[in-house]
Amino acid sequence: MANPSLLILAGDGIGPEVMGQVVRIIDWFGEKRSLAFDVEHDLVGGAAYDKHGTPLHDDTMAKALAADAVLLGAVGGPKYDALDFSVKPERGLLRLRKEMDLFSNLRPAQCFDALADFSSLKKDIVAGLDIMIVRELTSGVYFGEPRGIFEEGNERVGINTQRYTESEIDRVARSAFELARRRNNKVCSMEKANVMESGILWREVVQKVHDEDYPDVELTHMYADNGAMQLVRAPKQFDVIVTDNLFGDILSDCAAMLTGSLGMLPSASLGAPNADGRPKALYEPVHGSAPDIAGQGKANPIACILSFAMALRYSFDQGEEAARLEKAVEQVLADGARTADLMGPEDGTPISTSEMGDAILAALDASL
Ligand code: NAD
Repeated sequence: MANPSLLILAGDGIGPEVMGQVVRIIDWFGEKRSLAFDVEHDLVGGAAYDKHGTPLHDDTMAKALAADAVLLGAVGGPKYDALDFSVKPERGLLRLRKEMDLFSNLRPAQCFDALADFSSLKKDIVAGLDIMIVRELTSGVYFGEPRGIFEEGNERVGINTQRYTESEIDRVARSAFELARRRNNKVCSMEKANVMESGILWREVVQKVHDEDYPDVELTHMYADNGAMQLVRAPKQFDVIVTDNLFGDILSDCAAMLTGSLGMLPSASLGAPNADGRPKALYEPVHGSAPDIAGQGKANPIACILSFAMALRYSFDQGEEAARLEKAVEQVLADGARTADLMGPEDGTPISTSEMGDAILAALDASL
């Protein structure tokens, strides 16, 4: 059988540095676990603009649609700030998400014990935290029509429209229930059904999907404003949270920060399953291209490495190997390995991006 295919788009700034460590880990799985991938590299963002005058070449888009999974580093940087909106690096990423129809955005918020002191919350509230926010990514108020700034009488009015169809809610609800079955079997759906009709429909459809096809999963509903409070009050009450694009944008950033550094946060964006059951998928760290530290070997590669762990689990059904990689990360953190973002000014000398890669590879070797 052919190896599964991975398209790697390292992008700009620290993207190539952190992705360099992921490539070493991919090679390790090929050599030590007989889990080989056909890897192809291409350009996205500013790097693609420099070569092609566009942040995502059509050929790259076609490769992304054909690949079993796409791994992305980061895009953007000050060099590209003055470009026209249509060719800004971020447009490359948005095109990928749109044309791959990646409607389900998975943002884990996991607190490694060794980093619990980094959270802005008390250690006992976050230690051991492991929740997943599923955000609807392709519809809702960021896309609904009408939208714009219009003249109305003698003043202007800004309009955006929250719009969800039943099928859009149905498919993201299913992805949350499927995910919960692989975790602790609990879903909390968040909306504002008290004040928004789209929230009423959201609640009805999520409940219907549950009752018809996922009665084994525990389902609760919560207003999103209460959800925000509960996330900072007692986040461990949640397993999977499913919510719309706007609330998901805010709640996932809030939950992510419970865990400390931006350099630790992976994400997955999934679309509809192909004929072989594998969803279209893009895996990327939550952080950006970090131009302030790019090229200095300071970046923490863990967010990008944990994104690859998500690819192992959600695209390639390699849950045990994903757990092996996550445990290796946990081990090096417990042993005290720290890049600069995981340290205070008094905490000694940080290790470099590649030294963090070395430590994780050593922990993987030790896992055999
Ligand atoms: P950023 O995430 O790049 O950086 C924010 C801060 O976090 C910086 O101080 C940075 O040094 C630090 N940081 C981020 N990742 C880190 C890592 N792995 N290790 C250590 N420290 C890390 O956000 P920003 O500064 O607002 O944006 C910089 C550029 O990235 C902009 O052009 C922005 O548009 C782009 N951006 C891209 C993405 C993406 O590619 N998905 C996401 C956010 C921002």
